[in-house]
Amino acid sequence: MPETPEQLYERVLDGLRMPPVGEWDTFPFGGEMRPRPLRAPADTDPPREGRGGVDCRSCTATDEKYLWTNERWRLFAPSQPSGLPVVLLLEPREHYAEPGDLSDDLAAELGVMLVRVERAIRSVGEIGRVHVCRWGDGTEHLHWWFMARPARIPQLIGSFAAIWDDVLPPTPHVVWRANLDHVCAELSR
Ligand SMILES: [Zn+2]
Repeated sequence: MPETPEQLYERVLDGLRMPPVGEWDTFPFGGEMRPRPLRAPADTDPPREGRGGVDCRSCTATDEKYLWTNERWRLFAPSQPSGLPVVLLLEPREHYAEPGDLSDDLAAELGVMLVRVERAIRSVGEIGRVHVCRWGDGTEHLHWWFMARPARIPQLIGSFAAIWDDVLPPTPHVVWRANLDHVCAELSR
């Protein structure tokens, strides 16, 4: 039987731990820190944007809003550069909420798409690694994050790259645009 949120919360009241972030070279922040108090469980999870495909921004967006598209997949680029050299989102054209909702055929195609996009981003050059991530708590329309970290800056390795993306100054616009153009060209070959 799974632990309920209430049971978890009861355990939390005994105290949260502070991990030794001061020793972590990859942690983006310094100074005195302590865990944020955990609030009591809510009645439900917060609703996600575009629930059930209603008023879903991905479903209603035209292909022009995307960096690259094909029959069943679309690749989205944010409108402005961020700290990492390439950040992109892959979405199925149709509305699915969870990975497990995909048919076997679409799931197989997804595997190929994840690999193709990763390869295209890595070929931009000076990319240390492309993190392929699935978070889905904001918008419901299924999407995979591709977050490329720069090569040879050891502090940017690992999952904190997603935080460094907001900490580093934005990639120069002309460089960012060229990176996206390269990815698009690679996928269209
Ligand atoms: Zn949708």
